[in-house]
Amino acid sequence: IMSKETLIKSIREVPDFPIPGILFYDVTTLFKDPWCLQELSNIMFETYKEKGITKVIGIESRGFIMGPILATRLNAGFIPIRKPGKLPAETIEESYDKEYGQDTVQIHKDALDENDIVLLHDDLLATGGTMKAACELVKRLNPKKVYVNFIIELKDLNGKALFGDDVEVESILSL
Ligand code: 5GP
Repeated sequence: IMSKETLIKSIREVPDFPIPGILFYDVTTLFKDPWCLQELSNIMFETYKEKGITKVIGIESRGFIMGPILATRLNAGFIPIRKPGKLPAETIEESYDKEYGQDTVQIHKDALDENDIVLLHDDLLATGGTMKAACELVKRLNPKKVYVNFIIELKDLNGKALFGDDVEVESILSL
């Protein structure tokens, strides 16, 4: 078993990406290391194996990496939430405010039903705007229960505060 410190050390910090002044946490270096990748998968599996998860939902695009890995281990299906215009069939959408302008997330209308227990996954929680919108989107399809998971949480931004106690929010690493 690897310490969380070791996992944190494997995250590459990239200054001024995608724009000057932003410090970007690069998870590709975490996925590149076979032991880190295995450990992430194990931690997530241990956290959710008893929850009866039927669908793992990944947020485009860094939620598409660990999301399907976890789905196969949980014997769950995988559902993508994507940016507008990417999903081919009928969708529903939710828009949210960002620092500059607005963004929108979409899901296929027939992706879930009322018997599903879902786990929403993304790589990183910053302000929480993206996941909050994803959560509202998913709730419109009436699943039985919603769990939310991140690899990394930027705790000073307090994104967790956006979520009510009807959803359980977990992150593996806190920065
Ligand atoms: P939020 O909506 O919580 O403010 O931003 C989170 C979203 O932006 C996530 O989809 C995440 O992938 C992306 N994001 C924002 N900052 C970073 C970062 O430093 N590293 C990575 N890997 N993703 C980030």
